Amino acid sequence: MKYKFGTALILSSSLLLSQSSFYVNAEEKSNEQTENTSKSISFEQAQKMKPKELTNLLTDEDLKLHNKVAEHQSTELETNRNTNEAYQNVNGYIDQNNIKPSAITQDTRMNSLPKYDYKSDKFIGVVIHETANPNSTIDEEINYMYNNYESAFVHAYAGSSKIVQTASSDYLAWGAGAKANPYFYQIELAQSSTFDQFAKSVNNQAYLTAKMLDQNGLKPSLADHNGGTGTVISHNAISQYYGGTDHTDPINYFSQWGYDMDQFYSLVQKHYNQLNEASDTITGDTHTVASGDTLYNISQRSGVSVDNIKELNDLSSNELTVGQVLKMK
Ligand SMILES: [Zn+2]
Repeated sequence: MKYKFGTALILSSSLLLSQSSFYVNAEEKSNEQTENTSKSISFEQAQKMKPKELTNLLTDEDLKLHNKVAEHQSTELETNRNTNEAYQNVNGYIDQNNIKPSAITQDTRMNSLPKYDYKSDKFIGVVIHETANPNSTIDEEINYMYNNYESAFVHAYAGSSKIVQTASSDYLAWGAGAKANPYFYQIELAQSSTFDQFAKSVNNQAYLTAKMLDQNGLKPSLADHNGGTGTVISHNAISQYYGGTDHTDPINYFSQWGYDMDQFYSLVQKHYNQLNEASDTITGDTHTVASGDTLYNISQRSGVSVDNIKELNDLSSNELTVGQVLKMK
């Protein structure tokens, strides 16, 4: 992976100092953050805010410290593939061939990366990247990332046969510029040389996106056509609505395979819905208990209190059995 160094090169001596300071103990770190007024805002609050409001909350120190962008900006380099070639529908191909996501693995080197808290307590969405490097494998990209993490790093990589988490989701990554890094989980898509590999890789990226949204209780929504507000956002839309970076990935690379962010977003929705099939909203007069259901969970999904459900069904304990039919009204 190549990085854009233009903006990353404003490493002032104070930044170098503060970079080395993430090795100090946790107590000192929290003191330092309080003193620098770089306080986080609540996850709930952050989700309701527009890009401008979110970026206005960032201090000069935040902006200086997290001013890192992954991959290089090269729309020209990517045009060697025949963009006019008519490809079949990617999402349709994934369905027809019953392509399943690869297993998610974690690279142990993630523990050696800088650990900075999100400004929003937890990440509020997922940035969709693409490595912009047609000449390297996912493993080469990841090795490059660890060797150069001071310039940039992201949370995960998706390839055609694997999904690798490269940084902890508990801490921010340096891939989308100073204004978005403090708020987002970030996934790079490794480039493929065949349509089949592209379909598999993008399916893996969409699956991990859905998984990560689900992890934080975030519903999928596409930010790209919504003024930058939403939980799924391309690096291109970060450039447009957050600023602090001028990259346009993965738009051009997607379009080379006849793909776009809207189609990617439907794929994320498909995975998200599959992950949540067992936890849909309950609206009927009765509910048949499924595996994983609890009284609490059923109460949350139906809006009927636990006590009410117990009363309606003459339940004396909280135990449920799969297949049991509960009156909900
Ligand atoms: Zn990017």
